[in-house]
Amino acid sequence: MLYSSRVRLIHRTSGTQLANSARDFLAIEGLPVSELTQLLDHAQRLLPSAVGDEPANEVLRGRVVANIFFEDSTRTRVSFEVAARRLGADVVNLGASGSSASKGETLVDTARNIEAMGVDALVVRTSISGGAQLVAQAVDCPVINAGDGRHEHPTQALLDCLALRLRLGALQGARVAIVGDIANSRVARSATHALVRLGAHVVIVGPPALVPSGFAELCKGPGTITITHDLDAIIQEIDAIMMLRVQLERAAGTGIAPDYRAAYGLTVARMAKLRSGVPVLHPGPVNRGVEIDDAVADDTARSVILAQVSCGVAARMAVLVRALDR
Ligand code: ASP
Repeated sequence: MLYSSRVRLIHRTSGTQLANSARDFLAIEGLPVSELTQLLDHAQRLLPSAVGDEPANEVLRGRVVANIFFEDSTRTRVSFEVAARRLGADVVNLGASGSSASKGETLVDTARNIEAMGVDALVVRTSISGGAQLVAQAVDCPVINAGDGRHEHPTQALLDCLALRLRLGALQGARVAIVGDIANSRVARSATHALVRLGAHVVIVGPPALVPSGFAELCKGPGTITITHDLDAIIQEIDAIMMLRVQLERAAGTGIAPDYRAAYGLTVARMAKLRSGVPVLHPGPVNRGVEIDDAVADDTARSVILAQVSCGVAARMAVLVRALDR
């Protein structure tokens, strides 16, 4: 046979359809709560195999997953690779440097070419907000958003919710503060969509310049979104706190205000005001001494930063299975 069925499928379709949209994972916004909960439940069941305590069921043996990462990444790229390999899939990795992106080839053209090699799914990271959706419209295979500009980072939201659920139990009614550069953070957007959908109360905290004015209207209940610029005013009332990095790469020409740590950093003194058992989250990379003090990041009783990373492998396994296991 000259062409595989996949190649014939590519030839038959226009390349602009959303034939696989049910298997794409592009955003938490619009994801039914039943699917969100199913993914979290599945990720929780996969956690022992994600961290290597149990062998995984290699349901993706023979499949090929391509990681197209046109923006830097440590945790997300490696954990997608670990997740795919645990499930028996093969993985190819492509970055902007070392690929024809450096010669001006677009993300969409790159994705189409990689798909034409017969890969089964594309994991895409890009600085273009909405870039993962653009790729999904151009290819037939499932596309997973691994972070697109300021838009969304949906697998990060899954892992954040899983880490919180493991620590707090149900998220319904939990008060979760998200602190820092909200304006530039796809993590904050995806986490807020997920937490509000699951019934949590999100408290957005940051300097006025880094909190978009309409953020409280980002999404509708059952949970709520409130905004404050005063971290000390809410620190004793919350059930969990997620610290964010100031995204200097998305705010050209600006720096971090000299008083940022004093006002919005999770210092040792502020950590002491948290109620007992309140976990500290951070998506990484951590800027120690800016948004979080060394001793807080490394506090084994409070910090769930490394637990988040472990949950990330499980969350990505669940998303890959959703995309490919049929
Ligand atoms: N790693 C997260 C992201 O890719 C958070 C960050 O970079 O600060 O959005």
